[in-house]
Amino acid sequence: MRLLYKKLDSNLIENIQLNETEMLFQILKLIQTHLIKEHDTNNFYYKLKILLNQNIELAKAIFEVLTQRKINKYINNKLLPYDIQVIKDLFKKQRLNLLTNNFSSFLDKNYLLPCQKKNCQFPKLKLQTQYQEQYICLICLKKMCPKFCGKFSQGDLGNLQRHSQKKHLRKCVFLDVEKSQVLLIYSTSYFFITNTLFINKKGDSPIKGPYPLQHYQKFQINMKALDQIFDIIMDEKFLKKLDDENQDNVKTEVI
Ligand SMILES: [Zn+2]
Ligand SMILES: [Zn+2]
Repeated sequence: MRLLYKKLDSNLIENIQLNETEMLFQILKLIQTHLIKEHDTNNFYYKLKILLNQNIELAKAIFEVLTQRKINKYINNKLLPYDIQVIKDLFKKQRLNLLTNNFSSFLDKNYLLPCQKKNCQFPKLKLQTQYQEQYICLICLKKMCPKFCGKFSQGDLGNLQRHSQKKHLRKCVFLDVEKSQVLLIYSTSYFFITNTLFINKKGDSPIKGPYPLQHYQKFQINMKALDQIFDIIMDEKFLKKLDDENQDNVKTEVI
């Protein structure tokens, strides 16, 4: 980043109108695939230009900064100016921070946050409200209503499907806030992963109901399920997971 600032007018970077975490993550994935694994700088540059198609100048600058030290297989990965493990750990840490360690504090922190869709007119919720669908995107952490924010609309795709197509190259992972169940979307198909992110000692999953927060304290974070989700996101296991899934569970309705 420092090199980029030196090289360019710093406004160029500040003007990128994209979610920074998402973009950084996509660039890191390209680095991992084409520079670290394949040592293919041409392919890296080609994909980088596609990723940053609004900003060829920036693509060129990033490419030069990352490849000016010639990459070859004799260079130990640790000498490269980035560490993919550090990025992965940070990614996990941010999501753990969102989830907290039990369902009670998770709801306390997230349940009353409004949907971040621009024109959402969904009525304000109270803590004791009965089950009301709401989701958080586990890639960019944006919260939103499924379908059309409480309105009926004749579109083919709901909020979650459109978000995944527009922001995350058609692949996305959402968390159902009230059930702590994870929804996996690939293109327009989706299904719910059976293991929830919170469970009690008996292995039961929570469902948000008209109860006070203490009711949910016995549901603790399920690290096994969470690690499975991290694997899916970071190692791009979306397609494999959908293929493995019993096709009866895969839906394509509006969500
Ligand atoms: Zn998102
Ligand atoms: Zn909404």
